This record gives sequence, structure tokens and C-alpha cells, in this order.
Amino acid sequence: MARYRIVCTTTKYLHPHEHIVKVEAIADGDSARQTFKAKKVRRMLDDDDQFYTCDPAGNEAEVRKFHCRLEGCDVKTIRSKRDATTANNLDNLPDC
Ligand SMILES: [Zn+2]
Repeated sequence: MARYRIVCTTTKYLHPHEHIVKVEAIADGDSARQTFKAKKVRRMLDDDDQFYTCDPAGNEAEVRKFHCRLEGCDVKTIRSKRDATTANNLDNLPDC
């Protein structure tokens, strides 16, 4: 099991709105950024790897699988757990 801190996200318009399709993350204890497609992150979460975000104050938020069904959407992606704040929410990370 490994833990990865997501540092930036790439979103794409997937009808009817945008979703995260790719992220860059750094494994705990490492310094190199790695790129993961959202699909790959979902598979790794199934295999008990963990992804999280962290704000400058050190507050972490867990990242989970997310199947969006809003407005007829059927996209399988990832998002922050509900207790994430605006500072450490996946949606507020820089673009990459
Ligand atoms: Zn959606």
C-alpha cells in the first residue's frame, strides 16, 4: 500500500460539465511527481493505495472514487471526501 499526495489536476469537458481526468501526485517519502489518469487512481484505490490532498497549513483530505450522476452525467472519476475544506479540496488545486 502506498500513499500519494495529489499536487495538481487536469480537467476536461465531458458532457454535461468538467471532470478531473488526470492528476500529478508525489508518493510519500519520494519527491518525484508522477502522472496518473483518473481511471488509474480509481484502480489503485481499489487496491488499497491512498490518495490525498494537503493545504499549506498541513490539513489533509482523503480522495475517493466518485461516480457522477448529476444532470444525466455518467462519468467515473475521483473527488475529495466531504470533509475537505476549500483549501484542500481536489477541485481547488492548480491545473497541470
Ligand atoms: Zn458529472
